[in-house]
This record gives sequence, C-alpha cells and structure tokens, in this order.
Amino acid sequence: MHTRPEDIVITSDNSSRLCARTIKADFPVLSQDINGHKLVYLDNAASSQKPQSVIDELSRFYSEDNANIHRGLHTLAERSTNAYESTRKRVAKFIGCQNPDEVILNSGTTAGINLIAYSWGEEHINEGDEIVITEMEHHANLIPWVILAKRKKAVLKRIPITSDGRLNLDDIENIITDRTKILALSHMSNVLGTINPVTEIAEIAHKHGAIVVADGAQAVPHMPVDVSTLGVDFYTFSAHKMLGPTGVGVLWGKKELLDKMQPFMTGGEMIREVHFDKVTWAEIPHRFEPGTPNIAGVVGFAAAIDYLENIGMDKIRQHEIEITRYALEKLSKIDKLDIQGPTEPDIRGAAISFTDHNVHPHDISTFLDSKGIAIRAGHHCAQPLLRILGKVATARASFYIYNDEADVDALVQAIIEMKKYFGV
Ligand code: PLP
Repeated sequence: MHTRPEDIVITSDNSSRLCARTIKADFPVLSQDINGHKLVYLDNAASSQKPQSVIDELSRFYSEDNANIHRGLHTLAERSTNAYESTRKRVAKFIGCQNPDEVILNSGTTAGINLIAYSWGEEHINEGDEIVITEMEHHANLIPWVILAKRKKAVLKRIPITSDGRLNLDDIENIITDRTKILALSHMSNVLGTINPVTEIAEIAHKHGAIVVADGAQAVPHMPVDVSTLGVDFYTFSAHKMLGPTGVGVLWGKKELLDKMQPFMTGGEMIREVHFDKVTWAEIPHRFEPGTPNIAGVVGFAAAIDYLENIGMDKIRQHEIEITRYALEKLSKIDKLDIQGPTEPDIRGAAISFTDHNVHPHDISTFLDSKGIAIRAGHHCAQPLLRILGKVATARASFYIYNDEADVDALVQAIIEMKKYFGV
C-alpha cells in the first residue's frame, strides 16, 4: 500500500513529480462519489485523508497489541509500550531531532502551544514583558498568548503583514526588543499559505534573549523540517494534517528548556514520587504526558510518517510548488475572484484562500460540494487576520500529495459554473 520510489514519475525535464493518481488509490475515502461526482478533496489544510496503511495499522494495533502503556508487565503492555515509544523515535528522526526525549506526544498543535504558554509562560513572563506574535496566526497560536499576556499584565506585540500576505519585517528591530520573552509564529500560514522566514526572525529574537515557538501545523506535512537547523526552541504540529490519526500531535522542545519546566497537566504516569504533601516529577518527556494517551493513534502516526518518507518530503514540496503554481495561474484568470497571499509558489504552501466579489464563501463551498468538491469556507480560526484582510470569511482550497492538475481543473470549472448559476 505504500508508494514506492517507482511510483514517482520522472519527467523529461528531470524534475521528479508525484504520480498523484497512484497515490490517490491508497486512500479509500477518495474513491467515492459525492453528490454524483467523483470526490475532489481540497480541504487538506483542515485535515488530510488517511492511506490504507494507516487505517490497517490502527486496526492491527487494536486487534493484536492493545493495552495501556508504561505500566503493565504483561506481553501486550510491553508490545504497546514498544510501539508507542518507537513512534517517538520515528518522529524525532523525521524532524531531525537527535534526542527522542525532546519529543512530547500529545493531542495536537493546540495542546503543544498551550503547554508552553502555561508551563514556560507561567514561570518566565512578568508584568511589562513582551510577547511577540504575527498578524497571521491561527487561534491556536494566538489565544494562549492573549490569555498569558492578560494574566501576567504583559504586552502582546505583533509583526504586521504586507498587502501580499508576507510578514513585514521593516520594523522588526523595534517590535522585538530586550523586553521580548517569547516570539511565537507560524511556519506556514493556514490562510495565506505564506512560508515565514522563521530562522531569520528567530535569530533576531535570540539576540534579545527571547525564546522562539513555531507553529508547524501547516509546514511539517508539506515540506522537510529539520529542528536542528531551524533555529527555534519549541516546535508543534498535528498528525491528522499529515496522513495520521486525529487527536495526536507533537511538541518538540530543547531539552535544556523542557528539563526546567513544570508540568501543565498532572495525573498518572508523569510523576516520580507522590505523597499527600509532596510530588516530584518524572523526567521528560513523560513529565508532559499525563494520563492515558491516544496510544493507537500514536502507533498509527508512525505508519503515516512511513508513507510520507517513502515518497520523500522534498518531492512532496516540489509537487506542491507545481500544483500551487498551476492553481494560482488558473484561478487568477477567473473574473472577479481575489486570491490572498503571495503569488510566488516558491515562498508559499498549497493552501489558497480566495473570495468572489459577489458570492459568499459559504455559498461557494456549498455549490462546490454539489459538484463533489470539498473546500473550507469561513474564518479559518484566524479572525484577527481576516479582519485585517477586510473579510469575514474566505473560501480555501488546499492541496496535498493525492491532488493533481485535474483536481485544479475541476475546481476552476466548478467556480465558472457557479458564477453562471448565480449570474455574476
Ligand atoms: N496552527 C495552524 C496553522 C493550523 O492550521 C491549525 C489547524 O488548522 C492549528 C494550529 C491547530 O491544529 P490542531 O487543531 O490539530 O491542534
């Protein structure tokens, strides 16, 4: 069921392209018809579909190994623990981290950012300190910092965006100062598609003694990410956006920082010793993994990483640059359709937000669904950004490894039909 190197088509110009059609066959959900049309799934920024190998691994785990982890001494408990811990090592290798103890397995990006805001933030943020975010953050990388700033009487500052949806770094030396304690920014925007120059901005933040938290929810699924060279202190992402199960995610953090942090949630399996009047914590990563986790989901996540690695993250990125270029070119030719974000595919991902001058994004989405095309419409959990863009909502088509030019053509054709239908 895995895509093998032979599935990758080498084109005449020697650039390797994914054979999306072969890949699509690995995803059972994609073979269905919706409203009488072949399903075209373009809502990958919200959540990706799952290959058969991931579905099989979840089923295999529950059929053969299922038991709680880190506590039982019986064979199933040992197998489950080994499978769970081997995913941790798999994740570490996937993101270029040498020490798997720096990988905290949790429920997703949201959980990771909240952990840092409550655990690191509680101890290190004081009145008058500055927390720097950007104007393009998802609520997951925004609300925890708004609340932390309020709780601590700290100042929330933001890096603005340009009219074409990049970060405007003109005033960065005034935004990040010696008072800055945290810089939190997305690696790739879920609305604009922009890939932010994380390393460059992190360097400035470090010069001022701040820590850097990157939200990698939209980046890790789509491009190679190496935390050993990225220059950040914490990095978070979610399995469900990268072919894995829902309710599983990763917080990577530097050991020297994690070691000194207090737990955010307490309970079973995260302690060393418990008395009625005193508790000592387990070492990392277990200190930050209280209670019974989504064990099967974590085990299934390893199969998702296998699938992505079999293709190669470089090739995935290249595929998405090409499909984004094609989609931007086609969409930009449609009359009275505005596209958000950078126009150069090399500095953006394959999430494309657009609005029609006359048709509400929700109506666009409903019409496209009637043609079997799944997109997202709404504020994309980025209300402050949408306000800056002057929109209450946008339509968003987001592409992944199983999408190809035919999917873009179907989208474009359906939008043209929609405009005829609404007479606009
Ligand atoms: N950050 C970004 C940029 C996202 O796109 C998302 C999900 O859409 C999140 C954070 C939150 O991810 P999760 O809901 O998996 O925690």
